[in-house]
Amino acid sequence: MAQLPQKISVAIVGGGIAGLCTAIGLQKHAPHLEFTIYEAAARFDVIGSGVAFGPNALEAFTLIDPALREAFDRISTTNQLETKKDTWFEFRWGQDMEYKNGKAKTGDLISAVQCHEGQATVHRARFLEVMLPLIPHDSVKFRKRLAYIKNVGDAEKTRLVFKDGTEALHDVVIGSDGIKSHVREFVDHKSKPGFSTKYCHRGVIPMEKAIAVMGEERAGTNTGYLGKHGHIISFPVDQGDAVSVTLFKGERIWTAENWVVETTREHIAQDYKDWGAFVHELIPLMQDTSIWAVFELVDNPPSTYVRGNVCITGDAAHASAPHQGSGAGMAIEDSYVLSALLTDVKDTKDISRALRAYDAVRRPRTRRFQTSSRDAGLFWEFEHPDFGVDVDKMKPIMQERMEWIWYVDLQKEVEMAKDLLETF
Ligand SMILES: Cc1cc2nc3c(=O)[nH]c(=O)nc-3n(C[C@H](O)[C@H](O)[C@H](O)COP(=O)(O)OP(=O)(O)OC[C@H]3O[C@@H](n4cnc5c(N)ncnc54)[C@H](O)[C@@H]3O)c2cc1C
Repeated sequence: MAQLPQKISVAIVGGGIAGLCTAIGLQKHAPHLEFTIYEAAARFDVIGSGVAFGPNALEAFTLIDPALREAFDRISTTNQLETKKDTWFEFRWGQDMEYKNGKAKTGDLISAVQCHEGQATVHRARFLEVMLPLIPHDSVKFRKRLAYIKNVGDAEKTRLVFKDGTEALHDVVIGSDGIKSHVREFVDHKSKPGFSTKYCHRGVIPMEKAIAVMGEERAGTNTGYLGKHGHIISFPVDQGDAVSVTLFKGERIWTAENWVVETTREHIAQDYKDWGAFVHELIPLMQDTSIWAVFELVDNPPSTYVRGNVCITGDAAHASAPHQGSGAGMAIEDSYVLSALLTDVKDTKDISRALRAYDAVRRPRTRRFQTSSRDAGLFWEFEHPDFGVDVDKMKPIMQERMEWIWYVDLQKEVEMAKDLLETF
């Protein structure tokens, strides 16, 4: 009896937002491909903080698979007050300051950035939980930490070697293994993450406690508090039952080997000693007292996202400081574009052309995003050389700096990539 031709096999390394969205995208747009996700963790962790998504990410969910968008909509949260549904973030003073001829007071409104298509937030771990049932249970292999990639060639399979000594062979490898990516080492070993000059404290606190500190309007609305060499982001999650809070602080260099280190509440309070009283009421509510150093791939980015039949997506390719709240959004865009380009790959010899087209359209946009995210960190902390603390000058730019991120035509990006593909 004649044997059926073998399906093209795809390894997705990393089961974070990027890896899972790509798997769902492949299932929808390239069902003729067979995929396996290799995830280092034993399970998806139940802890985690909030993550916010703008219109570009919401659109990408729908394009990947309307079922993904439905799953997201079921658990996502928007600003609690009807009057704030079109607000992306309200920016307020985080500390009392002399400003021009008067005094700026903690909590006073600086500007509200509007986002008419809306923005929605989720608790990160819950989102992974609702994504998982959208793919076959046996397509995810937990406790599989990639050690390195051994060989590659257009005509041969790529060998993945795991820390536990096992190996796997696949036709395509998609590295979605985060900022410390081992797949990136294979694609461009010279690219290395660097410290972004910011660290943060993160927590999710019950809504009633957040209201007691910030008041109902601010606790229920995406809010950024700006101050000198620091900024604080808070937004409602869990359908309004809780508030995700992240306190950012500037630091010139990071000397610790670990990127997450323990500290004390007293140390955190010291960091914000010149800030408004509300910060000092928030700090005791943060269950976790770790400091998270924010690393990025800005100074030493990969020179390409593709080598042969291996590519990188999400933070593995373009980890950025989170100051525009869109790093995961970029990862989701990658997932859509990549899975749409793999739709037409029916033979292993077509793989590397499709991946090169992915690289050609995704690298310029995500590179721009990375540099603009770093710039935003300076902007929100009154360190930007062009603006300093001049919030009147900053106001029009606040809106402008987000619009190119939100209003992207992803289907056009795929068309452009397909046109390019013909030329390779
Ligand atoms: C403080 C902070 C706040 C943020 N807020 C936002 C926000 O509001 N909105 C937004 O859009 N973005 C935000 N981001 C950015 C966003 O979190 C990331 O861009 C996004 O999580 C990247 O997803 P990823 O799947 O590429 O990587 P990751 O989330 O890092 O996932 C990588 C996965 O790969 C696995 N893995 C790692 N190494 C290996 C290996 N060797 N073998 C197998 N598996 C491996 C990991 O266990 C993990 O599951 C924020 C980032 C930070 C730091």
